[in-house]
Amino acid sequence: MVLRLENIQKSFGSNVVLDGIDLEIGKGQMVCLIGASGSGKSTLLRCMNLLEPIDDGAIWLDGQDISEPGLDPQPVRRRIGMVFQSFNLFPHMTAAENVMLAPRRAKGLSRDALKAPVSALFERFGLADRMDHYPDQLSGGQQQRVAIVRALAMEPEVMLFDEITSALDPELVGEVLDVLRALRMQGMTMVLATHEMGFARELADLVCFLDNGRILEAGTPSQIFETPEQDRTKSFLSRVL
Ligand code: ADP
Ligand code: MG
Repeated sequence: MVLRLENIQKSFGSNVVLDGIDLEIGKGQMVCLIGASGSGKSTLLRCMNLLEPIDDGAIWLDGQDISEPGLDPQPVRRRIGMVFQSFNLFPHMTAAENVMLAPRRAKGLSRDALKAPVSALFERFGLADRMDHYPDQLSGGQQQRVAIVRALAMEPEVMLFDEITSALDPELVGEVLDVLRALRMQGMTMVLATHEMGFARELADLVCFLDNGRILEAGTPSQIFETPEQDRTKSFLSRVL
């Protein structure tokens, strides 16, 4: 297992947001989290890369307990990349500079040393001619692809994606899903919170339906989308499919 969550509990005040989440993610697997707004998908992803402290339970990354109190979260966050709905690129930096920033800071690499690997990443995701563009010269889809490249530049072991197509115009969603598809084929371990049910159905190894902070039902895409067992799963799917 690359990532293992055991009985994760998380509350904000009296609001219990994650209530006993158990999840195992194997190398190269793609896990999709689906569920209504407020069911806890974003909080779960944020807990996985220690952006949010958990109240109870444990998180293991490659056999290491990363939920131990007092552990420095920075090295862990470098090993678990995350991409958000809003791309959060720095507007005063070119695409390439945005991508180089974290490796320069975290690994102390120079621009020169990063030029070849970063160019290769832009090339790999069809962005070779966009490296020197500023974010406002890029479409939303291109900005989101740059944000993905930026996370990949840290060479993470796991990638987390939180509704990364939700803010895009419909005609731009496909190019971002194509990047995820390519990553999936290249063996990246990925966890996605998504409303793209067709995509989850096509590519997920495991689909988890979250309801009030619990994984109410988990299974293969065909189990969840074709033969869901729980009434709440059925009712959610009837609303979104
Ligand atoms: P989802 O991503 O499935 O829409 P979230 O994880 O964003 O769900 O939210 C789950 C619940 O946690 C919601 O009730 C939300 O209001 C609450 N919540 C999320 N983040 C915070 C926060 N930083 N402070 C207080 N409550 C929060
Ligand atoms: Mg969310």
